[in-house]
Amino acid sequence: MARILVVEDDEAIRIACRRGLTEAGHAVATAARGLTGLELVLSGDPQVVLLDLGLPDVDGIALISMIRAASEVPIIVITAQDDDPTMVEALDNGADDYVVKPFGTEQVAARIRAVLRRSGATQSSVIEPLRVGKLVIDERSRMATLNGQRLELARKEFDLLLALASRHGQVVTKAELLAEVWQEAYGGSDRTVDVHLSWLRRKLGESAAQPRYLHSVRGVGVRLVDPEHEPD
Ligand code: CA
Repeated sequence: MARILVVEDDEAIRIACRRGLTEAGHAVATAARGLTGLELVLSGDPQVVLLDLGLPDVDGIALISMIRAASEVPIIVITAQDDDPTMVEALDNGADDYVVKPFGTEQVAARIRAVLRRSGATQSSVIEPLRVGKLVIDERSRMATLNGQRLELARKEFDLLLALASRHGQVVTKAELLAEVWQEAYGGSDRTVDVHLSWLRRKLGESAAQPRYLHSVRGVGVRLVDPEHEPD
């Protein structure tokens, strides 16, 4: 869920965006005029702005610059003109992406996901905690709980758990874990992973011999599963 501001004078598009993005789980505010939009950027703290370039009261490109003077919020431009110079000008003035009318809300929702991913600061505030069975991992607060009990995890243990949980159900190789968690793309030791896995197992109250969440796949890697749904 993210806070989205739609600045668009065309009522039909504004309503369609509001409906589609609300259905996609976002909180949507709208403005029909550019200066109202600017006020809402300043007062409403949106996480993404969808901005029509053709507004009645202010030039769209100028409005991008005004928003940029006050905020780093990602801006996705809505344009009716499928011409390169306008888009280039919008991007040069600080827009992050654009969609060309007519567009579907699914396309806009995908663009929104993409800019949220790219803007790390915004991303952390919209990430929902990961849930795998009774395991809950909150990337933002770097807290994990199992059966409602907080797990006391060291930094790398948390990173390892997060890396595995974000791909739960899939086998993740030790080389991938070394690259992701330890930033050692080459030459890292499997032993590093093994040691941290054994610590993590202990904290999850399980063992390699009697796994629940963490399953080693011999010669391949590790798989994190929901033990309630995938008993091994
Ligand atoms: Ca317009």
